[in-house]
Amino acid sequence: DSFDDMNLKPELLRGVYAYGFERPSAIQQRAIIPIANGKDVIAQAQSGTGKTAAFAVSLLQKVDVDLQATQAIILAPTRELAAQIHTVVVALGDYTDVTSLACVGGTSIREDMAKLRDGVQIVVGTPGRVLDIIRRGLLNTSAVKVLCIDEADEMLSQGFTTQIYDTFQLLPNDIQVALFSATMPAEVLDVTTKFMRDPIRILV
Ligand code: AMP
Repeated sequence: DSFDDMNLKPELLRGVYAYGFERPSAIQQRAIIPIANGKDVIAQAQSGTGKTAAFAVSLLQKVDVDLQATQAIILAPTRELAAQIHTVVVALGDYTDVTSLACVGGTSIREDMAKLRDGVQIVVGTPGRVLDIIRRGLLNTSAVKVLCIDEADEMLSQGFTTQIYDTFQLLPNDIQVALFSATMPAEVLDVTTKFMRDPIRILV
């Protein structure tokens, strides 16, 4: 149970330790390697378990730094959460050259356009804004290999179901999905299992 044993890129491992983590939490022990290896994952994990770093590390590991294209999208139910996740991605990825962008409602899309045009590698955002930038042709999804949905139960209770369905339609068919949720009501499983293949289930 060590970050050293996860085959992480050295510069990512350095970022993890520089952030102050010593040992992976339970969710990190169980989720990072499968997600990094391309498996679909359904993780039931509350806030405080280290879930944000679990998917942030996995996605930073997956991104090909030499490919200037969006490769991972993280969806969160609120602007605040998306901003927090983005901060964690930036901090853990501090020694990598991975680029990321927070795309949330209420800010000018104009400011995001240049970064999106350059092919920012990880996009973190709220469902409405992310769908909007895809539909406007500002975010090219052809190289997106993984979609991470955080707080999926909150997403659905806040009425984002249609946006999430619509987003899936605009992503590559073989998209990998990592879903995190504090609770697993049937609606959460309905939306997502449709788009998942043989997901690993993790309960912490
Ligand atoms: P989260 O569940 O993502 O809301 O994270 C809860 C808190 O745990 C955050 O303050 C993280 O910085 C912290 N945390 C996450 N992973 C670790 C770890 N491996 N070691 C120590 N603290 C951690």
